[in-house]
Amino acid sequence: RLARLRARLVKSNNVFGKSLLALLSSDSIDEDVWDEIEETLLMADLGTEPTMELVERLRERVTVEGSRDPERVRSLLREELTALVDPSLDRSLTLDASGRPAVMMVVGVNGVGKTTTVGKLARVLVAEDKDVILGAADTFRAAAAEQLTTWGARVGVPTVKSDVEGADPASVAYEAVSAGIEHEVDVVMVDTAGRLQNKANLMDELGKVKRVIEKLSDVDEVLLVLDATTGQNGLNQAKVFSEVVDVSGIVLTKLDGTARGGIVVAIQRQLGVPVKLVGLGEGPDDLAPFDAESFVDALLE
Ligand code: GDP
Repeated sequence: RLARLRARLVKSNNVFGKSLLALLSSDSIDEDVWDEIEETLLMADLGTEPTMELVERLRERVTVEGSRDPERVRSLLREELTALVDPSLDRSLTLDASGRPAVMMVVGVNGVGKTTTVGKLARVLVAEDKDVILGAADTFRAAAAEQLTTWGARVGVPTVKSDVEGADPASVAYEAVSAGIEHEVDVVMVDTAGRLQNKANLMDELGKVKRVIEKLSDVDEVLLVLDATTGQNGLNQAKVFSEVVDVSGIVLTKLDGTARGGIVVAIQRQLGVPVKLVGLGEGPDDLAPFDAESFVDALLE
């Protein structure tokens, strides 16, 4: 059965899948329609197991109810998808550390949109009247600190960075958090490096950044940024990072450029970590809290 599905997938050249709602508009929901629903969910990166389970359950419910009313089947599909995405997960950010700044580390592989996310999130926090300090602990990539400082200036928050290229990222993180404590800000966000090529070094470095910050303060959030367009690869990255640091939430970026948002389900299942925020573009306002309902709507369209 799986092999047949895969074969169908390979043959299919409709990368963006078909509209699930359109599929369920036909009068009779026959074998082909079920296959196509499966295909579409797989192409959205929902993952093989959740897809098979979902379609199985849906078929069962349709059989039990004996309803072939497409309207009813659509609402069952919406229900099943929503349950998979798990709307009951707590997706709030820990931003109130009462008496000290909330400290956030932002981690992820180069190019996934870490720095952009820090900038966008700083803007959201500033709009909520919070004082924010950024820490440029990606000292490996020369342009990274510059890029973060530019974002900081853009949204009106200071950035702590080192003037020395290749400086110790942990010491920059330490400086940022101590500046945050000194100035009694609400949130310190630390941008980190993401050279996954050298897994052992990366692990050492991130672990050290966290330990050094912890000399001053708890780390309240570790946000792992993943690029939604990278599908399964993103999931592998997520596993590596969660081995090094306790990831508390995922930011899924570049959802504007893909129909593969189903990866949310796979991430939450395999890591037990909720997707908290989504990136929907390159601009300063293109960050949103993850919302299960609108997410499912998007999957269905
Ligand atoms: P970093 O290396 O992880 O810090 O990644 P950057 O923040 O430098 O982002 C890499 C590229 O992705 C930049 O060109 C960003 O503008 C772009 N980018 C970041 N987030 C998004 C997003 O949500 N949607 C789109 N379309 N592009 C994004």
